[in-house]
Amino acid sequence: MPVSLPQKSLFDLPEGVIYLDGNSLGVLPKGAVEAAQKVIQDDWGGQLIRAWNSAGWMDLPRVVGDRIAGLIGAPAGSVATGDTLSIKVYQALAAALDLRPERKVVLSDAGNFPSDLYIAQGLLDTMGRGHVLKTPNPEDVVAAISDDVAVVMLTQVDYRTGRMHDMQAITARAHEVGAVVIWDLAHSAGAVPVDLTGCNAEFAVGCTYKYLNGGPGAPAFIYVRPDLVQVIRPALAGWLGHDAPFAMEPNYRPAMSTERMRVGTPAILQLAVLQQALTVWNDMDMADLRAASIRLSELFITEVERRCPDLTLVSPRDPKNRGSQVSFAFEHGYAAMQALIDLGVIGDFRAPNIMRFGFTPLYVDEDDVVAAAERLEEVMRENLWQNPKYQTVSRVT
Ligand SMILES: *Cc1c(COP(=O)(O)O)cnc(C)c1O
Repeated sequence: MPVSLPQKSLFDLPEGVIYLDGNSLGVLPKGAVEAAQKVIQDDWGGQLIRAWNSAGWMDLPRVVGDRIAGLIGAPAGSVATGDTLSIKVYQALAAALDLRPERKVVLSDAGNFPSDLYIAQGLLDTMGRGHVLKTPNPEDVVAAISDDVAVVMLTQVDYRTGRMHDMQAITARAHEVGAVVIWDLAHSAGAVPVDLTGCNAEFAVGCTYKYLNGGPGAPAFIYVRPDLVQVIRPALAGWLGHDAPFAMEPNYRPAMSTERMRVGTPAILQLAVLQQALTVWNDMDMADLRAASIRLSELFITEVERRCPDLTLVSPRDPKNRGSQVSFAFEHGYAAMQALIDLGVIGDFRAPNIMRFGFTPLYVDEDDVVAAAERLEEVMRENLWQNPKYQTVSRVT
């Protein structure tokens, strides 16, 4: 049964806050506190180590992975959860390179999130086999897919601008030249419809604290195309990716399922909160969510461009090419964002000059969008950003 958006009643939003930063850290879902409390008090406190079996802790990564699979067009059993996204990028790239040992090029783009590029470069350096990481501008990626490319590794939605790659077309092009494809869905899962099965990419990775509202430090996920699950070699051969962890065998033997992408002991508290957060998606239709997200972002662009002539849209104007965020450039963007936050509208800032606004139709509606634009206008018209207290940059922006 489809539900109508928004679903604010499913979340605990602070009074008076308009939250346009769900693309960076999702809000607290109702029931999350109780889920954490249960794990701490009943399971850990009451069951102690028995809880690995009696409370289902050992299966929790798989159970949660299956829920995520349903949101990204992947079959049950194809998604493993755990660790952080940076680690999952490492695992995916190592496994992908192993599938094309004779090729030496990893193709990403200059707009990719720094951690993905750092991890890639670090892995290539460690391998020491002369691989190169190429990062053309995002619009030049397709032309750069040539038959020396081992792996195309891209983030679908650009964290700065919201620009969205065409997963289907790029994957098809990469497969034409025999390259393996990894999609980072950090800004896609829970934000835009994703069809991993239809797209046929070999790997996908993502995090769960953004649009999936799993909370700070929530576990990441990795998808492996089912036909490759028993073929790929895990670069991080931890005991919980072993076929029989409690046989304590001296040699590593990977699990015959996506579980081989598990590494060590799962973060049960975070998984329990994430499991609760994922119940928000019961009966949610991704196409409806996407339509609502586009309505909100279009309205925001119209309102801001009308009210704030000093801000420059840096996101694609065509909503088809944009994820669920809108970004504006402004020289004093950091200070302006701090002033806006003091007026109750929370977005964020990305260097060098980008004010970023995420639209999460689960808990943002059109009144919020208009009110946010009004307050942004106030910041700009009254030059509120010039206040000295907004000039000192915090550690997290
Ligand atoms: C948010 C994000 C990350 C963060 O990685 P963590 O290991 O979870 O800190 C990595 N890559 C992309 C594309 C992101 O958007």
